Amino acid sequence: MPVTASVDLGALRHNVRTLQKCAADADVMAVLKADAYGHGAVPVARTLADEGVRHFAVARPDEGVHLREAGLSGRILVLGAPFPNHLSVYTRHDLDVTVSSADAAEAVRTHGTSAHPLRAHVKIDTGMGRLGLAPADAPEVIHRLAAADGVVLAGVWTHFATADAPDSSFPQTQLDRFEALLDRLDATPECIHTANTGALLTVGPRARDFPRPLVRTGISLYGLAARPALASRLPLRPIMQLRARVTHLKTVAPGTPISYGATWRASEPSRIATLGVGYGDGYPRLASGRAVVRIAGEKRPVVGTICMDMCMVNLGPPDRPPATDVSVGDEALLFGPEGPTMHDVADWAETIPYEICCDLSSRVPRTYTDTEPKAPPTPHSTTEAPPAP
Ligand SMILES: *Cc1c(COP(=O)(O)O)cnc(C)c1O
Repeated sequence: MPVTASVDLGALRHNVRTLQKCAADADVMAVLKADAYGHGAVPVARTLADEGVRHFAVARPDEGVHLREAGLSGRILVLGAPFPNHLSVYTRHDLDVTVSSADAAEAVRTHGTSAHPLRAHVKIDTGMGRLGLAPADAPEVIHRLAAADGVVLAGVWTHFATADAPDSSFPQTQLDRFEALLDRLDATPECIHTANTGALLTVGPRARDFPRPLVRTGISLYGLAARPALASRLPLRPIMQLRARVTHLKTVAPGTPISYGATWRASEPSRIATLGVGYGDGYPRLASGRAVVRIAGEKRPVVGTICMDMCMVNLGPPDRPPATDVSVGDEALLFGPEGPTMHDVADWAETIPYEICCDLSSRVPRTYTDTEPKAPPTPHSTTEAPPAP
């Protein structure tokens, strides 16, 4: 294959152990939406289940169904708002539902039965402005849900808007609102959760100081965060590498233009490698003129516009390394733990690592390695059969 993403499940094991230790009494809820941020939801989920993780989250019901059909047996919360006519999918596949409005609560109350209850996580909008009940409306809605035979009050939760910013005071404001709401409840949810990766790393214990807390970690499982400084607060390891092969080599004379728009020209005799990767694979076009790759042990610039299926790398003078060391079929590293990193690619593309890994297209094959030894048995992992391999 011209381009391959390899995922290190051993590094994933290391990351979830690191996060679980940081989360202390809170259990990790592993966020696996968008195919585990492009890493492959099923292999990631199986590895995490093997590490004792019992709580998972996805964005949409079909993502939860996919995990159930792969044999995952933990709790799966669908974070997005439900459509009332899709609630049977939740009961059929044992998915937990987000209740984000009074109307959704009524639909959940009507649909759930004592034989087939719906497990509801009531979402409170404390300042994100995306989904959720206003704190003023929530106690009455939660009271009615808790009283319904066909509903299990599985959770009450909220989501931070600025937890990635270490200096923001807004998470504390959101927590003030959330705690005030919790004080007004006359029902006890199975669990309470607020923290994403950012809050786990910047807000600290207050974001998990609840009875039966969870932390909803996504990007940190994959060894990343919104910014490198945030990721480096814990010894996380990026779990994905993207590599592409050289499909063509040539030496060009000074002045020779390269790629669409002829925006780059060689200033000296140059060895140019064409790589089999482009924006059709998720390697962002906006990184044109900025990106570097690692090839033959050196970092070399991507030159000219990144195309849909290819991009070009300047190996420099044709009579010197690395040009003399590169043959057709050799691999270049586009990102990986040793650099360039996914954070670098995100910078070049003026975005965050989340978008880089989510945008890796389905035509890029994912391969998996698992080097770390398995976790020793824990009381958690023995209560639940591991999913079938
Ligand atoms: C995606 C998501 C998360 C996980 O966020 P990370 O920053 O990746 O840890 C947590 N909660 C909600 C509601 C989300 O949508």
